[in-house]
Amino acid sequence: MKAIRFLRPEVIEYSEIPLPQVKDNEVLAKIAYAGFCATDIELLTGEMVHIKNGNTTYPIIPGHEWSGTIVAVGSHVHGFAVGDRVTSDVSLGCGECEACRQGHYNLCPNREVIGSYRNRQGVFAQYVAVPQRHLYKIPDGLTLEQAALAEPAATAAYAVTKAQIPAGAQVLVIGDGPIGQLAAQLANLAGASRVILAGSWDEKLEIAKQCGIADTINYHREDVAQRAAELTHGGPEIIIETSGNNSALDSAVRALKPTGRIVAVSWYNGATLEVAMNTLIVKDAALIGSLASPNSFEPVLRYMAAGKLNVQPLITHVMPMEQLADVVKLVREKKEMRIKILLKPE
Ligand SMILES: [Zn+2]
Ligand SMILES: [Zn+2]
Repeated sequence: MKAIRFLRPEVIEYSEIPLPQVKDNEVLAKIAYAGFCATDIELLTGEMVHIKNGNTTYPIIPGHEWSGTIVAVGSHVHGFAVGDRVTSDVSLGCGECEACRQGHYNLCPNREVIGSYRNRQGVFAQYVAVPQRHLYKIPDGLTLEQAALAEPAATAAYAVTKAQIPAGAQVLVIGDGPIGQLAAQLANLAGASRVILAGSWDEKLEIAKQCGIADTINYHREDVAQRAAELTHGGPEIIIETSGNNSALDSAVRALKPTGRIVAVSWYNGATLEVAMNTLIVKDAALIGSLASPNSFEPVLRYMAAGKLNVQPLITHVMPMEQLADVVKLVREKKEMRIKILLKPE
């Protein structure tokens, strides 16, 4: 099959490699679409922690967001058949350890992560093998293109679940990328009375408004904490931080209404990060981390199929997989508006 491989930092190859081996409990799926994600860039530069600590080594097939169709099933697979349209978790747990048994397979000490950790094969390829335990059927009425956004949607949904949004709460989401856009829509669905999205691109903030987000803040022009306080008359009770900017976390602490909750669903620069802890304490508030997307694919696929979670406007580009180098260039130049770029294998 054809696949993208990162051979070493900054070296991309698109070439013929053997088909993945399929274990008894796995299916082989033909990939229809693969989503390009910021973590794929970290893998290309070598900045990803897994590369630095040796848990991921070159060459690696990147990519972890996908949709496709089953073409073969292992002998122990039940409930899935050739022709089923599917997507999958990214963190693949062992299924046996305490973390897995409690549903925390994102924390499984034996886990593999598609397209990174322990070199589990990624989805920037024509085919991928995935254990049945981590597969999800794509509901009727959802296109394969839309279903390729299930992973960022599930990541956003897990963060929104951890935020425990009280009915009628005012919610601020920071970051206008895919996770921020999807978290904002999901906060609406979770019972917020008003969701505000803070970002840096007017075009992306306009798309958010088309998807039902009441207010937006462009942080190049306005102070997020100050504007959020004005819009909410006292500060949002819930803040979901998706931008990964160290300063955004600071804005979140300042903006938060006392007794509120901040959920951070991103990765910050530097091993340690200064947080105004005394402000959090004075506000009697909580700061919560959110890792990956355990147990969150089925709810978001249902939301998408029901037409409640609108992913189509977030798909700004669909490009041939062999043009990955151009995609990387487009992402790095930051000249062209993009939210989610999908890659299509040949
Ligand atoms: Zn991703
Ligand atoms: Zn496990």
